[in-house]
Amino acid sequence: MFIISIVMILWEIFMNKETQSFQAETKQLLDLMINSIYTHKEIFLRELISNASDAIDKLRFLSLTQPELLGNDEIFEISIKSDDSSKTLTISDNGIGMNRDDLIQNIGTIARSGSKNFLKQMQENSSAELELIGQFGVGFYSAFMIADRVIITTKKAGETDAFKWESEGTGVYTIEPATKDTHGTEITLYLKKNEENSEDETWVDYTESHTLQNLIKKYSNFIRYPIRMEVEHTEYQKNEDGSYKYDAEPTTERKIETINATKPIWLKDKKEIEQSEYNEFYKSEFHDWVDPLEVVHSKAEGTLEYRLLLFIPKKAPFDFNSNQFKKGVKLYSKNVYIMDRCETLIPDYYKFIKGLVESSDFSLNLSREVLQQNRELKVIAKNIEKKIHDTLLYMLQNEREKYDEFWNEFGKNIKSGIYSDFQAKDKLSDLLIFFSSNDSTKKVTLDEYISRMPEEQEFILYATGKDIESIEKMPQMESIKDKGWEVLYFVEKIDEFITNNLTEYKGKKLKSVSHGEFSVGDSVTKEKEDEMKPILEAIKTALEGKVSEVKLSNRLKSSPVCLVSGKNGISLNMEKVLKDYDAFVPKADRVLEINPNHKLFEVMTKIKDSDESRFKTYSNLLYNQALISEGIIPEDTSSFISQISELMINTVSE
Ligand code: ADP
Repeated sequence: MFIISIVMILWEIFMNKETQSFQAETKQLLDLMINSIYTHKEIFLRELISNASDAIDKLRFLSLTQPELLGNDEIFEISIKSDDSSKTLTISDNGIGMNRDDLIQNIGTIARSGSKNFLKQMQENSSAELELIGQFGVGFYSAFMIADRVIITTKKAGETDAFKWESEGTGVYTIEPATKDTHGTEITLYLKKNEENSEDETWVDYTESHTLQNLIKKYSNFIRYPIRMEVEHTEYQKNEDGSYKYDAEPTTERKIETINATKPIWLKDKKEIEQSEYNEFYKSEFHDWVDPLEVVHSKAEGTLEYRLLLFIPKKAPFDFNSNQFKKGVKLYSKNVYIMDRCETLIPDYYKFIKGLVESSDFSLNLSREVLQQNRELKVIAKNIEKKIHDTLLYMLQNEREKYDEFWNEFGKNIKSGIYSDFQAKDKLSDLLIFFSSNDSTKKVTLDEYISRMPEEQEFILYATGKDIESIEKMPQMESIKDKGWEVLYFVEKIDEFITNNLTEYKGKKLKSVSHGEFSVGDSVTKEKEDEMKPILEAIKTALEGKVSEVKLSNRLKSSPVCLVSGKNGISLNMEKVLKDYDAFVPKADRVLEINPNHKLFEVMTKIKDSDESRFKTYSNLLYNQALISEGIIPEDTSSFISQISELMINTVSE
């Protein structure tokens, strides 16, 4: 054994072959792939073909400035070859290729955020494998679901040395010099055999020509480069009258053919494209595992000619809310890829949009800096924004269920646009929907809200809270409901922030039901106010420093008290939200409102002069009740608890 090892090492040195270990994460991923029982292993082909197409894209782009990288009359293509006797499948491209460092960097380590996320999800939920493989695709490594040995032979464009990378998916791989005439990459898969897979019901023979053709059509039809493979044609001999000669042997001919459509889908006429074609293109081009929610495909003609093919996804990608996420659409000029994510074309609030823009007017040498200033791009960006807005508005007005699905996933982005982009706020506010007191299971638009407003109702009313239930229990809701006024439920943290920018909609001001300046019923009479003044003053003194004002309320029905926000400072809800972010929190201006018709108020009047200490305790209890109904924990919980206990004891002993 020892001698064999020594001989192998010497052989490797002689052959200039080196053995390297996979990075720990890669090894983990490979183990998963090798033992995978995922039923749609076929996605491996989609992954390898998209890598090949990306590699050609890269070379095509570089060759714009370095034409010497290409051979004479070079035709870009991806070729698939299968060999039934050795059970191998080879996918080749004449793209950019890889050198030794590229192989170590790109294949030996996991850099791709998709694969990293896949592993993270797997660690968190080990039973999730089946779903997740489909979701992430996991790129090159998916080859190990169907192969037990993979050989990559590759040569980087512009370089002279070629390399062979080989691995059985175990802990190590080898790299050695190789011979290859042309630049590009050839990946040979040694397919797992049926007898080894007799237990595996997902086993498929991937050397079978029809299987391969179907898979290419299904997943890679709109790859821009021809995917070519040998196809067998059987010709039945015919009689002179055109009928078949059933007794004659048919002739078979093998021909290399292009299997995919190759014409870019965005160049086709919209009317000629089936929804399923858009779906498959989207999934293979933008690495998604579910169909898009909506497709926007349009063509602009005139001084500036371009085509847009945009998609609204159903689900946000896993890194959507992380700093790593990059918005943008792909750019093509004369169908040549020039950029993966052009950020300037998509505003932040539509960052979920995936897609591409093609125009023969773009210069092929657009640099990032030039892009920022590019006048044509600015025009296109404006149009993209309008197209997305119109599409969403149409969906909102005509396909509400679909819109709800969109909203649940990306509504926060629209809201953050209103909050952070002053110029966009008016347009985006058309797209807002909220639950409301009209029907707490159905969201309403601001237009629908306004159409139901009774004449005497001045404001668009909203109430903030952690959920619908707590809003519905708010003391101030009762009398508003009695009035028949509708209230929008602001249950997301960002909701109240948007009112900083969106103060009114179509001439109607937005107002919180907890705002001190808003009142529901007839205002309290002057006489009543004068009569109650001493007791209100006394409560304020008892609550020294806690509230800025104590006043009579006309918005309460059965509750004794409520807290509302005063004129100065932030609102109570905002104080709560900011506390969650551990931010420096200025205290909200608190106004305690008292229900003049409540029995407790009589009690307070009674004890005001006779029992000063009890008056103070009761004032605090009232204040704390009001805090609790706003969802705020009393500042001094222990004294609040002891005050209640004492109250119970006293009630019984009195
Ligand atoms: P992804 O393609 O999403 O980056 P993969 O794991 O499939 O992830 O591939 C890792 C990297 O290996 C690619 O980013 C690319 O740099 C390189 N690569 C894979 N296939 C090829 C190929 N056919 N030609 C050139 N480079 C390739």
